[in-house]
Amino acid sequence: MDHFIEVLLPLPLERNFTYAISPAEVSRLRIGMRVAVPFGKSKLYTALVVGLNTDPPTAYEAKRVYEILDEKPLVSELQLKFWKWMASYYMCTPGEVFRTAVPGILLLESETRVSGEPQWERGSADLDPSESLVLQALQHQSTLRVSEISSLVERKNALPLVSRMLKRGMIRVEETLSGGYRPKEVRFLRLHPAYRGEEALEELLKSLSRAPKQTEVLLHLFQLQQGVNKPIKSTDLEKQTGTSRSVIKTLIDKEVLEQYTLIQDRIGNQEGRPDQGLAVLNPEQNNALTEIQAFFKTPKPVLLYGVTASGKTEIYSHLIAETLRAGKQVLYLVPEIALTTQLTHRMEELFGSRVAAFHSRQSQPERAEIWYHLQEGGEKASVVLGARSALFLPFEHLGLILIDEEHENSYKQFDPAPRYHARDAAILLASYWDARVLLGSATPSVESYHNAKTGKYGLVEIRGRYGGVLLPEMELINLADAYRKKQMAGHFSHRLRDAITETLEQKRQVILFQNRRGFSPIVECLSCGHVPGCPNCDVSLTYHQQRGQLRCHYCGFHRHLESECQACGMATLDTKGLGTEQVTTELAEMFPETKTSRMDLDTTRGKHAFSRIIEAFEAREVQMLVGTQMVTKGLDFGNVGLVGIMNADTLLNYPHFRAHERCFQLLTQVAGRAGRKDFRGLVLIQTYNPYHQILKQVTTGDYQGMFREQLYEREQFKYPPEVRLIKITLRHREWNRVEEGAAWFARSLRTVFGTGVLGPEYPPVSRIRNQYHKQILLKIPKGQPLAPTKNSIKRIQRSFDAISYYRSIRLVYNVDYI
Ligand code: ADP
Ligand code: ZN
Repeated sequence: MDHFIEVLLPLPLERNFTYAISPAEVSRLRIGMRVAVPFGKSKLYTALVVGLNTDPPTAYEAKRVYEILDEKPLVSELQLKFWKWMASYYMCTPGEVFRTAVPGILLLESETRVSGEPQWERGSADLDPSESLVLQALQHQSTLRVSEISSLVERKNALPLVSRMLKRGMIRVEETLSGGYRPKEVRFLRLHPAYRGEEALEELLKSLSRAPKQTEVLLHLFQLQQGVNKPIKSTDLEKQTGTSRSVIKTLIDKEVLEQYTLIQDRIGNQEGRPDQGLAVLNPEQNNALTEIQAFFKTPKPVLLYGVTASGKTEIYSHLIAETLRAGKQVLYLVPEIALTTQLTHRMEELFGSRVAAFHSRQSQPERAEIWYHLQEGGEKASVVLGARSALFLPFEHLGLILIDEEHENSYKQFDPAPRYHARDAAILLASYWDARVLLGSATPSVESYHNAKTGKYGLVEIRGRYGGVLLPEMELINLADAYRKKQMAGHFSHRLRDAITETLEQKRQVILFQNRRGFSPIVECLSCGHVPGCPNCDVSLTYHQQRGQLRCHYCGFHRHLESECQACGMATLDTKGLGTEQVTTELAEMFPETKTSRMDLDTTRGKHAFSRIIEAFEAREVQMLVGTQMVTKGLDFGNVGLVGIMNADTLLNYPHFRAHERCFQLLTQVAGRAGRKDFRGLVLIQTYNPYHQILKQVTTGDYQGMFREQLYEREQFKYPPEVRLIKITLRHREWNRVEEGAAWFARSLRTVFGTGVLGPEYPPVSRIRNQYHKQILLKIPKGQPLAPTKNSIKRIQRSFDAISYYRSIRLVYNVDYI
């Protein structure tokens, strides 16, 4: 008699599915294990077991499970509970959470592409006929889908074959898609046991007297081994002796050397020294720490509001050490991958190999490895420093979650679903573990500060910078004045230019902030006014000088910039506005002797690009750093004397209820990079609006003023924290359909929610990748229960989907839209 199990597929499906399995197999199964199952038109997926002993399905005939992929659960029941909460709170499916939560490499499926592994050497390995067939095919074709391999070897299911070949290192999986996990193996060499002992060794050297190259390799091996009791890497020996691999191979074949492999951890291996390394806190920091510890007697989250460079990170370190002493794990969330670089170094010095970074720039195998380490619950990876996705790791005994720069909007996932806020989800996750949560910021979000003021969070403050360093001096520069008085050099006011000169003379460094990448945001024809736009999106193209290209920042479309206008044919194209690339170019002209680097999306695409830029600036090989938002977040450089903001106005004029809050946060944060250690820094802000209220609050460091004003406005105009927001976006290729569908949806919502419904409206960019967008904003008053609200929306969606003309419109929910 067959048994039936319930599985979760990594797909946006409303329901789980039931599969059949034999009684013998079912006894091996546990909840949270992976199984390979067929779904749809003969596609195979990695699914997760979520129910044992289910009833057979009535609506369809259950297909059979192809294969059990795990010996023990990959995902715990607590994680499953967390996913379920997330799907229901953020209005998506558990399958979408599953896909985001588990590293792609652990989700092999029939559409996954594999290719040959160049490192693999066949040697004397035994290959079965299917394996040879696959390897042969991969010599003719660079990649194969798992489904193609199935037909090649005439087997219905090639997943087990593929995972076996992956484990043996014969093939690799395309990183951009999903793949299989394989520990990293490193080859080592040692003298064959037969020659251990002096006599045998002498004999050997004699016999090699006519093979000088081989002798040399051998002598080098002894040299490397001398004193250190460490395995010798095969690649090190090659490098040291400058011999080719073939000489070494001859020695292996002759059984003089012996080759062996060890599994090397991809994550760090150093020892930490928390006891000596932890900073001695000053009295103010110490008070803060004591207050936090007092709040931690109850599960209430705590907000640490401390000005930039007040030593928040040092306080985190003390809390981490404490948590580790209690034998628990720490999750340390940061908003930006760029930040993990600097912080990982800082934390590794204290906690050694217990620290593991986790973010999307890492390779898939690295991520899978951290997953397994956490599951073991040992010392390795007991402090995870990660971007928001680290929230989904399989913790075994989580004790503390730190959320640094809690105000950052990059904590909210925008696309794809689940559109979760990592800070809010972390607070929920902590409640499952009875773990403590500390939010830290120099510019808390209005919501969090409000929560702290109303007693929902504990509030701890640090008002002064460490070492009594004063917060930087701030000065506004009136651009209109400077242009009128001809006190401008390119986009630099003379004041800013002279301050740069002076700072460089003092051997200090400069950071310049401009919120746009590229050379200039707009190209315009002076004759006819034509502005080249993206063919797929409703935006103008940005000029990138270095590549001579016009690029779309929404879909990546790019083309060469012609010399004539495409509309009127005149050679009168002109560039307007300012991007990071142009700032860098102008700097190079003004300061030809000084080294400048640029940090924005364009210059940080590679895996190590961030660390290269940051390390060069830290080592003072580079004197000036030009960047977008990326330079504003949490970086700690000791020698920055001047921060220049090229143009604050784009931040002020942004149409969003959060524009002023964000402007305050961004400018305060970027200013906070100046003069962090031994001297007072200077911040110059260029603007056309020097009398703007927010700029005044920034220059006087008046967070309280900003908070009071923003809270008042949000209460007046009904925005968070006064209400909760759900943004509903409709997308379709046809303008008409979106137009009508959105009107229908908004009308239906109004019958339930009345005046809480805003729109439908076109967003600022209303066509992206050839899809038209229209949005509806739903405001939910405080106190109105959320679950019934969401059910009403879902009911409306079901009626909507029942209208065939609307069914192909994509509906996207963004709960707690920020
Ligand atoms: P924040 O996280 O609040 O911006 P940091 O923790 O980065 O501040 O501190 C700013 C700088 O001052 C860092 O270089 C840090 O090492 C140093 N610092 C802060 N507190 C101490 C302390 N108690 N002892 C030694 N150095 C400290
Ligand atoms: Zn585009």
